Formats: sequence, structure tokens, C-alpha cells
Amino acid sequence: MKVYNTANRKKEEFNSINKGIVNMYVCGPTTYNLIHIGNARPLVVFDAFRNYLTSLGYQVNYIQNFTDVDDKIINKAKDEGIGPLELAAKYIAEYTKDAESLRVKKATFHPKVSENIDEIIEFIANLISKGFAYEIDGDVYFDVKNYKPYGKLSGKNTDDLKAGARVNVDDKKTSPLDFALWKNVKEGEINWISPWGKGRPGWHIECSTMSMKYTNSPTLDIHGGGQDLIFPHHENEVAQSEAYTGAPFVKYWMHNGFITVNKEKMSKSLGNFFLVREILEKFSGEVIRYFLLSTHYRNPIDFNDGALLESEKSLTKLMTGYSNLEKLLNDSTENQEDILLEEFKQIEEKIEKALQDDFNTALAFSYFFDGSKIITRAINENKYSKEGVERAYNIFNKYLVDILAVLPFEKIESKEDDSSDSEVFKKVMDILVNVRNTARKDKNFAYGDLIRNELAKLDIDIIDTKEGSTWKRK
Ligand SMILES: [Zn+2]
Repeated sequence: MKVYNTANRKKEEFNSINKGIVNMYVCGPTTYNLIHIGNARPLVVFDAFRNYLTSLGYQVNYIQNFTDVDDKIINKAKDEGIGPLELAAKYIAEYTKDAESLRVKKATFHPKVSENIDEIIEFIANLISKGFAYEIDGDVYFDVKNYKPYGKLSGKNTDDLKAGARVNVDDKKTSPLDFALWKNVKEGEINWISPWGKGRPGWHIECSTMSMKYTNSPTLDIHGGGQDLIFPHHENEVAQSEAYTGAPFVKYWMHNGFITVNKEKMSKSLGNFFLVREILEKFSGEVIRYFLLSTHYRNPIDFNDGALLESEKSLTKLMTGYSNLEKLLNDSTENQEDILLEEFKQIEEKIEKALQDDFNTALAFSYFFDGSKIITRAINENKYSKEGVERAYNIFNKYLVDILAVLPFEKIESKEDDSSDSEVFKKVMDILVNVRNTARKDKNFAYGDLIRNELAKLDIDIIDTKEGSTWKRK
């Protein structure tokens, strides 16, 4: 099997460090919000890849952290008037729900920062003693100038980086590229006692510490994450880890591509932000999963209104093929000819070749569309045997049900589907609701009820709430 290694910018033959075992670490979410479609991509991609490694016979030790100590969490917890760890716990629970909907299995370990503080402190103290970190007023920074290979993962040059670096006024570091390992805290903020006073860890150090702790090894076989994490997060992970152990930190770096929305970068300020939870109201988790896996993981994906509908249509075709096979399993017809056995033998070989080539799931799916057509032909021409049906069915199960986990799936039938209503219709409805409100304000309740009853005949409900009235289809 070949995988593209970001560290060397080429596809390389995959060989695990220890035979039959793969230690794999993927950076998890900062738990202060529901996850969006961009967060879901690494989640689904690396879950599917882990399933594939398992199918090849590897024992996969899969670690995905939860960042539960972070500025964003602390700020949001303040707004909500609860403790930061309580807020994080709430969003870890929400994350788990979304992950389940996306058929993402639990990792072997889901370590949290708050539960690994002793190890993080030990790691930082070691870096200071080796001359790779320094303390100023209770903050500890990694000393980039003392780690010569800095920039090797992202291919960046430290002189260029220094020229472009932004330094915050409250940063006490001595060079702009240095990054915080430990932060002195403001009064009243969550903190732990350390040799440098009360404080909390910086972001990057957690991944180095927890990956080594939960694999019991200085070197990971695979480290994954989104391309946006290559610099500075992964570059910093490499620097501090290799400074600490003197051994290579990661054998294969795998990064998934970006998700854009209507060709623009997804961001809160542009308002083009899609939560998985919102999408799940209209589409099955399997459709979202298929959408994310139907493009090669390193390529960008554009998310737009039509893309999920297209994915649903495609997945329906695969589901039809799968359902047809299930029906044929109980069919006792003895046909003279069979095309399934030979065709699916070739299809499986092609699928394996696609997945062995840097996990090309997009190509693998395309062979299943061919397969679905062949199943239809076999039915129409009575060219299927028990053995052929079983082989095809096993291949569907292995790849589409277990590894890629997009089947079986059910379409979501929306109860209050007003998405097909035109904009004009929605505006007319708003006018009607306003007219009724005005009538009620004028104590003309008979008139208000008339509007409500006439709409009820059209299966449209008026709902009165404290904030005002709205409408929905029954
Ligand atoms: Zn990380």
C-alpha cells in the first residue's frame, strides 16, 4: 500500500514500525461548539482509513484527543456562566452524537488535556532542561532557534517565517517564532500548579505528550489531520517531540484537504458555516459520509446546496444494488449462466488497487457504480448464480457497509419540509401571519381565527409563541 507522506511530499510504500500494529494519532476538536462540516472531514476520512487498515489485518491503536483546555473554551464558558471543563464535557457529548450519526467509531483512546497535565508538565520541564525551552514570568516558550530542523514538515524557511510573524503585545517570548508551551493564567481562570507557577498548557504540547503516552512509543506510524494544521500546529508538534526524544516523531504524515462553500473559504464571518447537526436534519449521516469520501481525501471539496442532493442520489443507486443482492440471496432460481462471479472478482481487485493507492475512495466508489449496473444486467438477463450473488454481496458488505460505512442508508423524510416552497410563497405567508397578528391586537379574534382555520384546511399550522407567531406545514 502507498500513502502520500506530507513530510516528503510524495507517495511512499506503507510499512508499519512494528509488524501488524499501527499507531495512529489524529488531532481532535477543541470542544466549545458543535462541529461543522469542515471538522467532520478528518473525522470521517481517518475513521474510514482506520477501518481499511483493520481489514488488512493491522491492529490499529487509534488516538484522537479532545482539547478541553483552551482560550475559546474559557471565553465561552464565561459567557455561559459555567466552568470550562463543564462546557467542554457538554460539547464532547454533542460531538459523540454527531460522530455516531456519521458512523464514526470511537477511537481506542480519547485523551483529554485536563487529564494529562502531569505528563505535559514533565514534558515541558524536560525541554527546559535540554535547552529547548525557556521560562519568562510564569510563561514557558519553545526556543525555535535551538531546534535546527524547524520548518521541515511545512517546507518553510525560518527567516521567511520570522519576517512574516505577528507578535502580540502581551507575548513575552524572545523570538517571534517561539511558541507557548505553558501559559501563566489571569486571576480566576482555570489553572494547575507547575514549577513555573499556576498556569495551563499551550495548545501544541498536548498532542506530543498524549500521542507518546497512549502509544508508549516516541514514533507514530501515522499522524493525521486537516491541511490547515500543518503549520504551525504540526510543525510545532514535530519540533517539541523530536527535541524531547531525539527520535523521529512521525513516520507518515497524512493531511486531508479543505472544504470550501460555494468556492469560498468556510468561515463564521462570511456566514457560510454549516454545522453537522443542521445538515443531519435534512440528510442521513451516511449521505454526509459519502459526500466526504466521494472526493479523494487530499483534494479540496466544495460544499453547496446541490452537492448533498447529488450525494444522496448516488448513494441511492448503490443502495439499490445492495438491496437487489439481498433479494437475490433468497432466490433459488438455477440459472445456466452467471456473470457476477467473474465481474465482481475483477471489481474487488480494482477496488483494492484504488484503496492501496493512497486510499482513493473516490475511485473505489466508481467501481461500485459499475457493479450496480452489472447486478441489474444479471437480473434482467437471468445470469446470476448463488455463488455469484454471495460474492457480490460480500464485497458490498466488506467495503460499503464495514470499511467506508455508507450503507445501508435511509432517506430522511422531512416532516415540515418547507424547502420546496418558493420565496414568494414564504413572503405571502409572512404577510398573512402579520395580518392575523394585527387583527388580534385590535381584538378582532374572529378575523384572526378565520385566517387560522382557512390555513388549517391547507395543512398549514399557525403557531403562537411568546416571541410572536410563525407557521409550519402539518
Ligand atoms: Zn494536534
